[in-house]
Amino acid sequence: MAAARGPFVLEAEGLVRHFGGRPVLDGVSLSVARGETVILMGPSGCGKSTLLRCLKGLIQPDAGTVRIEGEDLWALPEARRRDLAAHVAMVFQRPQLVGHLSVLENTALGAAAAGIPWPEAYERAAMWLSALELGRHLDRRPAELSGGEGQRVAIARALAADPSVVLWDEPTSHLDPMLAADLLQLMEELIGRLRTTMLVVTHQPGFTARVGDRLILMDRGQVVESGPPARVLARPTSEVGRRLARLAA
Ligand code: ADP
Ligand code: MG
Repeated sequence: MAAARGPFVLEAEGLVRHFGGRPVLDGVSLSVARGETVILMGPSGCGKSTLLRCLKGLIQPDAGTVRIEGEDLWALPEARRRDLAAHVAMVFQRPQLVGHLSVLENTALGAAAAGIPWPEAYERAAMWLSALELGRHLDRRPAELSGGEGQRVAIARALAADPSVVLWDEPTSHLDPMLAADLLQLMEELIGRLRTTMLVVTHQPGFTARVGDRLILMDRGQVVESGPPARVLARPTSEVGRRLARLAA
């Protein structure tokens, strides 16, 4: 893309977002450098999904700044904002595929939305679906897929868009333990191989220790701790970090 290519792909500064008069994000700042894999952890309800939705341009913060490739997302006119946000791919807790479109069309749509011309969008979609062992399912509808297959399509859709950064919001949380383990292993392989910039919300300490360049902990709408995963998991300085370390032990 044409934007400046500084060291940080994604930056949030002082993000505040209220729901029902309550601050769900209470001044969150973080940055993700190019090629970095940052893990985000914190108790359920602390604001992780809300933060990711602000970073993807899906909800507008009440205060603070989101910068993608150095550009201030919410200062842009709507059309420019959509273009920029399309370079931020997101994998949600559930696949969120379009029901009446095939697996191939769903995947190509992700790439086309990021500005990739249709013929190439289809090529990239077919390539990623085949790489994720979905080559036999190109013509299926989302309802004909298992939960694990649906999430793999969602991942193919994200990666086919050639994103600047991929946000992962607990993509294994609705899968049974064995499928979740398979998907985590796939994510680990992809993260190791692609070196794409990633921000991953997960509750898996083992995965975090293996793939994370940095671990950020949130509690009640704030970042409470950040550092190398091994250090944070072994010698936490926050209350949430201590709870997490006890669970991981
Ligand atoms: P997490 O992903 O860490 O579990 P969320 O960001 O989903 O946390 O939610 C944080 C808090 O914000 C929760 O109390 C949730 O109920 C509230 N919240 C999130 N989205 C909305 C919304 N659209 N309307 C009202 N409350 C919301
Ligand atoms: Mg969440």
